[in-house]
Amino acid sequence: MTGKTPPTFALSAPTGRFAPSPTGPLHYGSLLAAVASYLNVRAHSGTWLVRIEDLDPPREMPGAASDILHTLESFGLHWDQDVVYQSNRLSLYDEALAELQQKDLLYPCSCSRKDILMRGEHIYTGHCRKGNYVGQKNHAIRIKVPERTLSWQDLVQGPQSGNLFNDNGDFVLRRADGLHAYHLAVVVDDASQRITESIRGADLLPLTSAQMYLQYALGMQAPEYGHIPVAVNAEGEKLSKQAGAAPVSIGDPARTLFKALRDLGQSPPDELESSTVGDILEWGKKHWALNKVPGRRIL
Ligand code: GLU
Ligand code: ZN
Repeated sequence: MTGKTPPTFALSAPTGRFAPSPTGPLHYGSLLAAVASYLNVRAHSGTWLVRIEDLDPPREMPGAASDILHTLESFGLHWDQDVVYQSNRLSLYDEALAELQQKDLLYPCSCSRKDILMRGEHIYTGHCRKGNYVGQKNHAIRIKVPERTLSWQDLVQGPQSGNLFNDNGDFVLRRADGLHAYHLAVVVDDASQRITESIRGADLLPLTSAQMYLQYALGMQAPEYGHIPVAVNAEGEKLSKQAGAAPVSIGDPARTLFKALRDLGQSPPDELESSTVGDILEWGKKHWALNKVPGRRIL
């Protein structure tokens, strides 16, 4: 006996989430993200959470949140625990802001979107950080980012890197209209819900380095990220609620789910197509292979 304690392995089950913004009904691209995030944790007996990102009332559509939840249920995508609504958690975001303020990482910015464009900047280059802030009541709060490149491994897209200063610049954490920014809320919530993996649409890939920086600044553990390809329409445009993508039909959920599995690179047998949602998900859990999800291929 050496008296040494044997190493323990924390092989706990993963926790994943689906985090739609209630700006409209679920479209097919979001369904793919929901299915992939669901199967990637359920295949390992993990926990799947749903979080409604209702931070931006002007962009929201009345009834969209319950419509999205109803659609998920029609596809047999049942979540664990109560659905979390970001609109109920504003004090948590304020606490994170206070922490960052204490670390001297924040500053007020009086630039409008138009001001920034007029200066010919695609990415905000720290105008107000450099002493140009004009005190005004309605100002945004930005975080100072260093000139650093972050590298990480995306579970679907492979090795990634992003330069904080060039890709995102000093990004906004609280908008001039007083609303908390998506970056802040998503990072605070992923940490407080102990999310271990974030499987989501590739449109969010360019934002990931900013979120990882925020996690670092707040001393939070980053989840693993996997970005599934964005679904496009026949014209090659990304499906999005803002662009008016058609809501996913719940008329024949089993066939749609079967198609989703195929589009996610899985190979369900033909006979499963006429099966039930429950059987298709069971097959999906048993055979799920994230490494088969296409990376850059357009669906
Ligand atoms: N709420 C975001 C959206 O609907 C997704 C956030 C995330 O998955 O990190 O686009
Ligand atoms: Zn500014």
